Amino acid sequence: MNVNIWAAARAFASALRAGHDGPRTSQHRASGTGTCPDWCTSDHRCTAWRRFPNGEHRSRSVSTRTPYGMMTTTRTASVGGVTHVEMLLSVRLDMRDRIAIRQAQLLTSGVDLATRAVLATSAELREVGR
Ligand SMILES: [Zn+2]
Repeated sequence: MNVNIWAAARAFASALRAGHDGPRTSQHRASGTGTCPDWCTSDHRCTAWRRFPNGEHRSRSVSTRTPYGMMTTTRTASVGGVTHVEMLLSVRLDMRDRIAIRQAQLLTSGVDLATRAVLATSAELREVGR
């Protein structure tokens, strides 16, 4: 990976953390007892309370209209307490196929890079106990 791109991505992730004002989620963790965390919808979307082996708690999806399309985010947690975020990104692409393909390739790489940078800086924060 290009060192300059990685450095820029890390700086981007730090800036996101410093200025993030998006939706906050509870720190309550799934207990594995079948009790839903307070962020779970606790309705038909949650399969954990039924104690399905692969059941998961699911938050209400948050959809945000952006200048380029729509972004939808949902938090999940397995009955074992492993949490994930599911993100659906719908981006309007150029009408010209060659440009649309390149945009899709760059978006895929960019989302992957941004995700890696955010997770890397999060790991560093855990190491220093912040
Ligand atoms: Zn639940």
